[in-house]
Amino acid sequence: MFEHIERVPGDAILGLIEAFKKDTNPQKVDLGVGVYRDTQGNTPVMRAVKEAEARLLKNETTKTYIGSHGAPSYGEVVLPMVFGAESPVLKANRASATQSPGGTGALRLAADFISTQLPGKGIWVSDPTWPNHHGIFTAAGIELHKYPYVDPDNRLDFDGMRAALKSIPEGDVVVLHACCHNPTGFDLSHAQWQEVLEIVRERKLLPLIDFAYQGFGEGLDEDAYGVRLLAENLDEAIITSSCSKNFGIYCERTGCLIMVAKDSEQMDNIRSQVAIVARENYSNPPAHGGAIVSEILHDPELTALWREELTEMRDRINTLRRDFVEALKPYGLDEKYACVAEQRGMFSYTGLTPEQVDRLRDEFGIYMVRSGRANVAGFSHENLPYLAKAIAAVND
Ligand code: PMP
Repeated sequence: MFEHIERVPGDAILGLIEAFKKDTNPQKVDLGVGVYRDTQGNTPVMRAVKEAEARLLKNETTKTYIGSHGAPSYGEVVLPMVFGAESPVLKANRASATQSPGGTGALRLAADFISTQLPGKGIWVSDPTWPNHHGIFTAAGIELHKYPYVDPDNRLDFDGMRAALKSIPEGDVVVLHACCHNPTGFDLSHAQWQEVLEIVRERKLLPLIDFAYQGFGEGLDEDAYGVRLLAENLDEAIITSSCSKNFGIYCERTGCLIMVAKDSEQMDNIRSQVAIVARENYSNPPAHGGAIVSEILHDPELTALWREELTEMRDRINTLRRDFVEALKPYGLDEKYACVAEQRGMFSYTGLTPEQVDRLRDEFGIYMVRSGRANVAGFSHENLPYLAKAIAAVND
């Protein structure tokens, strides 16, 4: 039965991790991975998370199922985090949260909801986007299309994006990155979000906003600008939220699908359908991550500690972005790579070509994906001079 099954090539990033491990260069640098790293190159457990877990361990009384929508106490704190405590969307009771196994699980719920409840609708993703978007939507049987996002000079191509959005057939779904665009790091300005809102409204499109990095760009509220603008000004929207990065609980698989409807009655109808989609996929989401988030956000002291730690991560990334450009100054390359300081989030489209990426790996032990996407959290004040020297060498 299995004889005809062919092996597929391994994930490019996993291959990179293997190659990095084997490299004996003492100065080697890993810019490939998709997780936050601190100054020591570790991805530690946040102190607020450790404390929340200690309390959970002590107080937990049962491990029974938590239901298809997950724990109500999790939804209760995530909705205000995403929309703002005073949001008119929440006051009108037109948003509903369904806890999911990570942001990925939320995207899969969204995909299955679209394919079953909105059959025939196409979906539009930025070119480039997080590669898993392609896999998730295609696996759900949705026709996938792309809109331009980056121009050949490695700048946000908003003209191209605007023109493409205006040509999307009425009723199709458009995927937007709320902040910290993966893989490019190019985010929309407030004026550009306003334009997107107008096009979405005019073309009667359904926005699906992927919100995987809240707090990693400019701040918890600042990063939610586009989400809040669209949710407050449109009748319908889908948001996929992830707590993997901002709580550093990657392996706990913690996220949620948020459906925004015209009114609370429609929201209840939609919610009943989302429960079916969740049940058919995995029945109930894992409980632990949601319980951590709930424990932290229900306690003002833990919330303050978590915010402090999140700010530390964000500031570190944004400082490294500026210092990277600064380190390239002596080589006259600061202008060429100035975009790295302007981009936001964990990732940067550096503008390095696949050939330059290959040389950086082979000659300097610097590892990143061939698109030139670097994980900024892999920079450090120790390796920046070496990185700058290597980049200068491959620019010769
Ligand atoms: N969307 C984007 C754009 C992402 O970068 C990621 C994580 N790499 C996700 C969604 C999924 O996040 P999670 O790990 O919570 O499934």
